[in-house]
This record gives sequence, structure tokens and C-alpha cells, in this order.
Amino acid sequence: MYDPNCVFCKIVRGEIPSRKAYEDDLVLAFHDIHPVAPVHLLIVPKAHIATLGEAQAGHEPALGRMLGVAARIAAEHGSEDGFRMILNTGRVGRQEVLHVHAHILGGKEPLGAMLPRPKT
Ligand code: AMP
Repeated sequence: MYDPNCVFCKIVRGEIPSRKAYEDDLVLAFHDIHPVAPVHLLIVPKAHIATLGEAQAGHEPALGRMLGVAARIAAEHGSEDGFRMILNTGRVGRQEVLHVHAHILGGKEPLGAMLPRPKT
């Protein structure tokens, strides 16, 4: 449920400050500390799940909530006409913080391409 060494667990518990964007019983959303888009939020389950690869059936309510509230949170923070969610997972996904989190990225204008296409 809680990993004392996890930065996002500490944010959930208020032990590390964050700019909160949304909170309910299952999830917390806050502004990314190094934004890469005009709107850049992170949404996390309150319970510690290191990666999606470790998610269990019991985590599905929180994981579903992350998706279910994303559009409203994005709109409320200035991305009313769409947004992108990214959930980096594991080594290949280049997940840096080992507490499941989805990036909510957006703004007033379309974002860049999701991944640069390899040159042919
Ligand atoms: P990822 O590569 O998907 O694991 O991304 C981790 C994200 O967490 C990065 O975009 C960081 O800027 C962000 N981050 C790390 N520490 C904090 C923090 N204390 N508050 C807000 N965002 C953070």
C-alpha cells in the first residue's frame, strides 16, 4: 500500500509538496515538476503499485479511475479540446519513478508526434 522510499507515495501522504490538481479516494493528480507541455499533470493511484507489470485485479478500480477522470482534469487545467495520456512502464518504457503514474499532456494547440519516426 505504501512504500516509504517512494517519492509519489510521499506526495500522496503530503510528506513532499506538490501542486495538487485533483484528488479523490483512489487517485491523486498533480503538476509534473518538469513540464514538457503547457499542461503536464501526473495522475497516480494512492496505493503503491511499482509498475503496471505488478498490477493485480484489486488495483483495477484505481487504474480505471485514472482513465475515467482524466478528461475532466485535463479540461479543468486548460486542455479542453483533447489531451494525451502516457503511462511509461518498466525498462523498455523508460519508467523513472517506480509508482504507477500516467502523464496527462495537453494545452491549447496539438502536441508534437508521439514518438519520432525512425528515418528510412
Ligand atoms: P517517468 O519517466 O514516466 O517515470 O516520469 C516521471 C515523471 O515524474 C517525470 O516527468 C518527472 O518530472 C516527474 N517527477 C519526479 N519527481 C516529481 C515530483 N516530486 N513532483 C512532480 N513531478 C515529479
